[in-house]
Amino acid sequence: MVTFAKDIKELISSKEIQKKVKELGEQITKDYHGKELVCVCILKGSVIFFSDLIRHIDLPITIDFIRVSSYGNELTSSGDVRINKDLSSPVKGKHILLIEDIVDTGITLDFLVELLRTREPASLKVCSLLHKPSNKVKDVEISYKGFTIDNHYVVGYGLDAAEKYRNINFVGIYPTA
Ligand code: 5GP
Repeated sequence: MVTFAKDIKELISSKEIQKKVKELGEQITKDYHGKELVCVCILKGSVIFFSDLIRHIDLPITIDFIRVSSYGNELTSSGDVRINKDLSSPVKGKHILLIEDIVDTGITLDFLVELLRTREPASLKVCSLLHKPSNKVKDVEISYKGFTIDNHYVVGYGLDAAEKYRNINFVGIYPTA
C-alpha cells in the first residue's frame, strides 16, 4: 500500500506486472532448457524486476550485475553511456540474458550488447519489462518484452525519478509538466 506517492498515476498495476513476469519466466525456462544461462541485472532500475523474474525461471541459472549510467539525475538521456560496475565473471561461451527495466532510445542497450559481444558469449539476448518505442534511436532486438508504453516518464517497480519511487509496487506516470 503506497501512501507517499499520491502524485504518481498508476499505469501498470502490480497484478498485471506479476502476471507478465511469470509468463516471461516460463518462456525463458522453455527456451534455455539444458543450457548454461547467466542472468545479468542492469543496475539499478532492473533490480526489482530481475529479483521477481529469476524466481520464475526454473533452471540452474547464475546471476551477475552490471551498472551503467546515461542519465545522471536528468529525465532525458545524455546519450553518453558509462560502465560504473562491470560483470564479476567472464561470459565467454555462456548464454547471457540481459535483464533491463526499460528501453527508451535504445542507446544503453546497444552499447551493452556491443560491449558484451566482444567477450564472445555463446548467445546474448535481451529481456525488458518496458519498451517506449517512440523515442527509438538505436534498434536493439528485445527477445522478451513485458509491456510497450507510450512516451511517459515512468517510475516504480525499480524505476526512479532522481533516485526516488523505486519501491512502489506498480509502474506509474511521473508528472513532468
Ligand atoms: P535508453 O538508453 O534506452 O534511452 O534508456 C535506458 C535507461 O534510461 C533505462 O535503463 C532507465 O534507467 C532510463 N529510462 C528511460 N526511460 C525511463 C523512464 O520513463 N523512467 C525512468 N525512471 N527511467 C527511464
